[in-house]
Amino acid sequence: MANLKSYSSAGHHLADPGATGVNGRQENRETIAFRDLVNAELGRKGKMVVQDNDTETLSQYLGRIDPTDADVVIEPHFNAYNGKATGVEVLVADDANERSKAMAKEIVDGFARIMGIANRGVKKESQSARGRLALMRKKGAVALIEICFIDNASDMKAYDSNRINLACFLAQIISKYDLN
Ligand SMILES: [Zn+2]
Repeated sequence: MANLKSYSSAGHHLADPGATGVNGRQENRETIAFRDLVNAELGRKGKMVVQDNDTETLSQYLGRIDPTDADVVIEPHFNAYNGKATGVEVLVADDANERSKAMAKEIVDGFARIMGIANRGVKKESQSARGRLALMRKKGAVALIEICFIDNASDMKAYDSNRINLACFLAQIISKYDLN
């Protein structure tokens, strides 16, 4: 059991608010809370999880982890645009391996179905506003989830109503793609 390892981080720490949303909601609070839900579920499944801590920068976290090809590396984020844009999307590396692409597809389809919001599909990092993502340089099945738009009230309502289901679903997917 000790060699079952997944990497499930929040991406934003307490001093890094990320995107600002409806009703003053901050991306970092949301991703930390969601990461904790996912990792609690992974813990219940007996999985060993490596995560970032709440005062650690993303580059500090990425600098200390060393996933193998058998591992899963996942990070949730929230999108923000104009208050009207909606939906979930999942980003993979431009040179993503087949396992990453298959995992990303299952996640984006599942999240869209569970929340009942638009499915924006799987995108390459270069197709995203972010350009190149340091997370994507890690080995394993790697994906970054843009859960929904934090500045869209109906997206956040859909998220709030379903976040436990989303966390349980994601823990299942991580377990499925973890080859350890
Ligand atoms: Zn973010």
